[in-house]
Amino acid sequence: MVQAVIYKGVKFLSLYGIDAPYLTSEIVMQHVLGVEISFIVANPTYPVPISKESEFWQLLNKRAKGYPLSHIIGKREFWSNDFIVNQDVLDPRPDSETIIETVLKYYTNKKQRLKIADFGTGTGCLLTVLLKEYQYSVGIGFEKSFKACRIAYQNLKRHNLLNRARLFSSSWTKCHMQFDLIVSNPPYIKRSKLKFLQDEVQKEPNIALDGGINGLECYTSIFVMLQKCLKKNCFAILEIGEDQSGIDKLVRSYGLAFLEYVYDLSGMKRCVVIKHV
Ligand code: GLN
Repeated sequence: MVQAVIYKGVKFLSLYGIDAPYLTSEIVMQHVLGVEISFIVANPTYPVPISKESEFWQLLNKRAKGYPLSHIIGKREFWSNDFIVNQDVLDPRPDSETIIETVLKYYTNKKQRLKIADFGTGTGCLLTVLLKEYQYSVGIGFEKSFKACRIAYQNLKRHNLLNRARLFSSSWTKCHMQFDLIVSNPPYIKRSKLKFLQDEVQKEPNIALDGGINGLECYTSIFVMLQKCLKKNCFAILEIGEDQSGIDKLVRSYGLAFLEYVYDLSGMKRCVVIKHV
């Protein structure tokens, strides 16, 4: 019976100290059976076929070994949309929704024809969501990891955005166009801290996390590009972490205007708003 197997899964995951064991066990079961959670809730005595149960245990074992749930089921939700993920891309995180909220605050007219750039697009989640919010806009994602680019392509395709989006499999430093909005969630973890990240974060690509010795390497290179690629009086909205809490000084030193820090739900400074004046 499906509910009983889910409970066994909860016990198993708890033994390994996995966070949110109930939700994890339920999501894995839902994935294996190919059904919605509502099906499980409505049919708690549904008999799980043996082959499906063995697949369920295989996946739970992977989770117990520290693999992120998103890699196990191959997707992750961001701004209420599903995104394909794997080991080649950074998982979309709820914290990064702060970027979307901030864009919505600065660009209030949803009918605007914005030209949007996403530096280091990864899964393409920021670009995808922004193009869905601003239906008349177009966008370009720059992503130097070819493997990540393939995932971004699949995500844009899945959300029917290939007609309004382009991907460049190259560094944002190669950008030579001008945009009305630039967003980025660049790698920002100080190199010395990488080895202390949670197991599951360590399974994400280093290239998406390693912010160099002081965690600022990507920002300095982005700031140079903003002077060239961000139209005058337009905004760049960039994600930051704990090591960038004093980045306002650096912004000003590049001749850009620092407007504000925006805080995430846990009260951390999560993004910085910059204007090209
Ligand atoms: N927010 C991620 C973490 O803390 C880091 C993402 C990044 O470097 N851009 O795990």
